[in-house]
Amino acid sequence: MRCECGKNAIEKIGNRYYCKECYSKRYLSLVERSIRRYGILKRGERVLAAVSGGKDSVAMIAALKELEDKLGIKVEALHINLGIGEYSRKSEEVCRELCDNLGIPLHVVNLSEYGFTISDVRKKACSVCGNAKRYIMNRFAREQGFDVVATGHCAEDVVANVLKNLYSGNFEWSEKLLPRIEGYFKFVSKAKPLYEIGEKENLLFVLSRRLIFLPDECPKAPDQKWKELVYVIEKRIPGFKKGVLRSLVRREKVEGELKSCKICGEPTSTEVCQFCRNVKKFGKVRKIPL
Ligand code: AMP
Ligand code: ZN
Repeated sequence: MRCECGKNAIEKIGNRYYCKECYSKRYLSLVERSIRRYGILKRGERVLAAVSGGKDSVAMIAALKELEDKLGIKVEALHINLGIGEYSRKSEEVCRELCDNLGIPLHVVNLSEYGFTISDVRKKACSVCGNAKRYIMNRFAREQGFDVVATGHCAEDVVANVLKNLYSGNFEWSEKLLPRIEGYFKFVSKAKPLYEIGEKENLLFVLSRRLIFLPDECPKAPDQKWKELVYVIEKRIPGFKKGVLRSLVRREKVEGELKSCKICGEPTSTEVCQFCRNVKKFGKVRKIPL
């Protein structure tokens, strides 16, 4: 099949076929739109993009570099070598080559500088690793004067985390899953530019642009059951992912702007609460004065 521009198509989205170039353009405009929609990055910011070498963070950093002028940002990269044998060695190599090709300044921090590596951790390696990454990203960004740390979390990562947190009874999570978290105390602002973008779209962008990336999964990573579940649910309830992502953002807005209903005085996020609007719409004889 052919793209509207006449070239060979690589993908069908909705009713349209796309060639590599047209797909990349569409991808970049989707990333730009969601960055603007959610205020994920702001004009004038120095962005530290955390890159692991995997498809998502590779797509993110390449997209941010291309959008630098349009968004008025400056992008540099950070890779953390976690000391997971051959996997970490290859990851660092990929990041170096990628940033070299894209002309992005790359900073590399070795976890071993702090006296241990993830290979030293026998139990709960993923949680120790997650903590180490967050610690180093934040500390490095603050000490080097960056305004915001961007990570390559994609739509499936965020939704999988919602499910996981619900299951484990962790209720302080929703704020961490927002597309942008403003900095406070010694925390630098955090951003997820690919919040709304699916991992398959990221992979296709990386392939279209022939960017180098590491397809290997981390040897310490647990199985991907939560992400698999997201696909299962999405198949049964099309639009589930988008619904969860949008409601995370909406919830935050609602909680942020509560006021008193103009009619009854009960708390609401709108001028007149939903109940009073229903009373007006459906009510015949009013027994209880509002
Ligand atoms: P993960 O925690 O592996 O799901 O990765 C989430 C995001 O964290 C990635 O998209 C990257 O932006 C960032 N990240 C993960 N591993 C590294 C690493 N070794 N160095 C720098 N950033 C990383
Ligand atoms: Zn085309």
